[in-house]
Amino acid sequence: MTLKTRSAIVTGSTSGIGLAIARALAQQGANVMINGFGTADAIENARAAIAKDFAVKALYSPADMTKPQEIRRMVREAEEAFGTLDILVNNAGIQHVEPIEKFPPEIWDKIVAITLSAAFHAIAAALPGMKVRKWGRIVSTASAHSMVASPFKSAYVSAKHGLVGLTKTVALETATFGITVNCVSPGYVWTPLVERQIPDTMKARNLTREQVIDDVLLAAQPTKQFVTPEQVAALVVYLCSDEAAQITGANLSIDGGWTAQ
Ligand code: NAD
Repeated sequence: MTLKTRSAIVTGSTSGIGLAIARALAQQGANVMINGFGTADAIENARAAIAKDFAVKALYSPADMTKPQEIRRMVREAEEAFGTLDILVNNAGIQHVEPIEKFPPEIWDKIVAITLSAAFHAIAAALPGMKVRKWGRIVSTASAHSMVASPFKSAYVSAKHGLVGLTKTVALETATFGITVNCVSPGYVWTPLVERQIPDTMKARNLTREQVIDDVLLAAQPTKQFVTPEQVAALVVYLCSDEAAQITGANLSIDGGWTAQ
């Protein structure tokens, strides 16, 4: 176990990629605070399973990533409960698919808040403790859409590109403190986020469900396979290891060759 003395927050980890990351960090011995929405039962089941399966401390924060004060309180609570916060994974995210002329301004604001501003607030709150201890790992889940665009996803593509800029900036500010700051950029991963955008993509492009999966989603991915949440989680675990100490300011693709095209 490589992360036995570490403690982590993974935002947006009640589902999908974030839950896989939280479980993978716990498997390496890290205490984890999970975060996100869902039914009380489902969240408690996910939290309790992490504690039981990996014999670590597992906590839950209900912080809403659109609310700066709740984000900063979540970081304080993790530091108080665990003693230190060594790993921050900014992973919460939502998607909305609509042509820009019709794109609701309040959804633009929400996507930018959850994807970009939440990472700013969490990083700002987590860094002082990491700097004192001279060790830290910050990983943000960006996307292939942090490197290339697709139509009808203006807010998501813009916010993910911004997240890469934030990552590079903080990597430079922390480079001599034993802290690394990176993004992982998955292609399509089969999670509720992808499943939920199928009806809107069917409407926006006038396609059937099968056409959206084969001709829109997997069309972008040369391997013709979805990435799995566990594959993304393994990359995050690697970035949190001591072997990855010289990887900082990077945006690592895990996209079946999508952005090689
Ligand atoms: P998901 O819908 O399964 O999980 C999203 C998580 O974010 C959930 O836990 C949800 O409760 C949480 N969340 C949403 N709004 C929140 C808020 N306001 N405050 C706190 N938590 C909130 O989606 P996923 O596919 O696992 O996505 C996780 C991340 O991966 C996102 O940043 C997404 O953009 C990114 N990503 C996903 C894919 C993909 O194909 N699924 C590809 C590239 C990047």
